[in-house]
Amino acid sequence: MRLVLVGPPGAGKGTQAEIIAERLGIPKISTGDIFRANVSGGTPLGLKAKEYMDAGELVPDEVTNDMVADRLAQDDAKDGFLLDGYPRNTEQAKVLDRILDEADATLDVALELTASDDEVVRRLSGRRVSKSTGKVYHLEFDPPADPDSPDLYQRSDDKPETVKHRLEVYAEQTAPLIGFYEAQGKLKRIDALGEVAEVTERALAAIGAPA
Ligand code: ADP
Ligand code: ADP
Repeated sequence: MRLVLVGPPGAGKGTQAEIIAERLGIPKISTGDIFRANVSGGTPLGLKAKEYMDAGELVPDEVTNDMVADRLAQDDAKDGFLLDGYPRNTEQAKVLDRILDEADATLDVALELTASDDEVVRRLSGRRVSKSTGKVYHLEFDPPADPDSPDLYQRSDDKPETVKHRLEVYAEQTAPLIGFYEAQGKLKRIDALGEVAEVTERALAAIGAPA
């Protein structure tokens, strides 16, 4: 299965991507995670991406598209993948179609996770990440054992001012993707409200995978 997840920051894409990819036995490819790993490693790609990420802007398409093309060319993505956070605008979606076309493959489903602004702000403001394991927690909804542990950090782009801008960027640049995939007949939409397990059930049902 070749699948992309679309939805506002904080909708729970990363959380669901982890679970769904494991259930389906396909790699989870999160462009945000790849960028963050490059930023912390101080690579040339990280240096290019950092200022955009800090500002809550999209990293330029030419940087992002090349990175995704390289990742999709790896062996583990040959028979399926779950993309989390890509594509994020219509141009990226067209490039993805081209990359797949050249490999005689097609995208199966674009799964949209819907959530209100209030809910995503609540989710983003409580999001904390473990430095050592990368696991994502929520102070209220999925609390870590020790909320004051020095191992936990808040993503710099989860601060309120940047969150507000990321939501604007989503509405202006990413939301048009929904129409793009609807026109291709590939869009499935689920409500991202509720327990993580409930949302997973909805997602698996929507993409036609056994629960
Ligand atoms: P969230 O999970 O909150 O939606 P991500 O981890 O997916 O956020 O992305 C964090 C940041 O990384 C984005 O704000 C953007 O700067 C950059 N980024 C991630 N994916 C893309 C992409 N497909 N195109 C451009 N920038 C991206
Ligand atoms: P995204 O990748 O879309 O930005 P995440 O998966 O990182 O979103 O989730 C954002 C925050 O919300 C995290 O702190 C996560 O623990 C929490 N979260 C995810 N799914 C749910 C849910 N169904 N209910 C409550 N909180 C959730």
